[in-house]
Amino acid sequence: MNVVYEPRGRAREYSELACNLYRGCTHGCRYCYAPASMRTTGEKWHAQAEPRKDILRLLEKDAQRLEGDQRSILFCFLCDPYQPLERTERLTRQSLEIIAKHRLNNQVLTKGRADLILEDMALMKTARTQLGITLCFSDDATRKDWEPNASTVDDRLTILKTAHKEGIFTWVSLEPVINPDQALAVIRMAHPYVNFWKVGKLNHMKEYEQTVDWGKFLFDAETLLTKFGAKYYIKNDLRSFKMSQ
Ligand code: SF4
Repeated sequence: MNVVYEPRGRAREYSELACNLYRGCTHGCRYCYAPASMRTTGEKWHAQAEPRKDILRLLEKDAQRLEGDQRSILFCFLCDPYQPLERTERLTRQSLEIIAKHRLNNQVLTKGRADLILEDMALMKTARTQLGITLCFSDDATRKDWEPNASTVDDRLTILKTAHKEGIFTWVSLEPVINPDQALAVIRMAHPYVNFWKVGKLNHMKEYEQTVDWGKFLFDAETLLTKFGAKYYIKNDLRSFKMSQ
């Protein structure tokens, strides 16, 4: 079984290859699409996490097979690589060691624990990891409402600042945008420490999506990113609103 796979659909806009290390994610984000992808309920997916069976042995096998492949492997789409269980399991750390050994391009996408991420930064430098932080809210009370067990806004800013200072390539997943004003505030707060932005709208939650003028948000976000000289990518779903400006 291959554990490094080619994502489809919206996830493909983030990475050509990906690997999920844990089954389940205790961050419990309200907008999480993982339970639907895995044909389970949010209650079950967010209640507990466990290491995927044999994941490190299988990753080692895939890494050997992929040697020389220039495509980047993303950790992880269906769980957070730095959720609390990483403290004892260290699957992400061991995976980055495997990836570094085989000199594969890689990226991490997380809203996880700052202490764990900071401890792995030296390894990220060795592995040439592109460190992605999900950051959609500027206000921590709103963040807690939507991403109850993930790290705080301040912690995420600290991670970005530290990584940038360490010379690690940093990117922000400004997705899913739920509150446009807060998303714009995130750009203002974090732009000095971010090498690349990926911006995407909320999907699958019509009651919230309908309250946002996406054409206006897209215009405002691009204006701000351009003003700061930022490099960015607008995801297809959001870009489709360009015509309505
Ligand atoms: S961190 Fe990602 S996988 Fe985990 S609950 Fe939140 S959205 Fe889902």
